[in-house]
Amino acid sequence: MLDIACNLLGAALLLPLGMALGSFFELVLDRVPRGESVLWPPSHCRACGRRLTVDELIPVVSYLAQHGRCRACETPIGAGVPVREAWSGLVVAVPWAIIGCSHPGFAVVIGAVLLLATWVTRAVRQIRRPRA
Ligand SMILES: [Zn+2]
Repeated sequence: MLDIACNLLGAALLLPLGMALGSFFELVLDRVPRGESVLWPPSHCRACGRRLTVDELIPVVSYLAQHGRCRACETPIGAGVPVREAWSGLVVAVPWAIIGCSHPGFAVVIGAVLLLATWVTRAVRQIRRPRA
């Protein structure tokens, strides 16, 4: 019983961490191919240039709250963005939810491998089919 609570609590903590990492990798794959810094300028709308506020930077939640559009110019945000953020959270959290407290090192390694595999695959697909 204690293991189940431990696994679920750990997964609840890892889910937002994985989603935040997914959001960061999304930014990396958006900016690096354009030769832009991943650190500066701060996150902004690519269409209107407005800097995003803190509440617009919450993975998945901000997308849903803004109905998938920029709050200022209403340019649609790709539906793949929140899907990849959610997926990133799940691949980190689910291994922990299953075996985290009995095999913590193994759960972290599985989560890290799945997360990296997801984003390396995405990067390779992007290299093969660069956006216009
Ligand atoms: Zn905008």
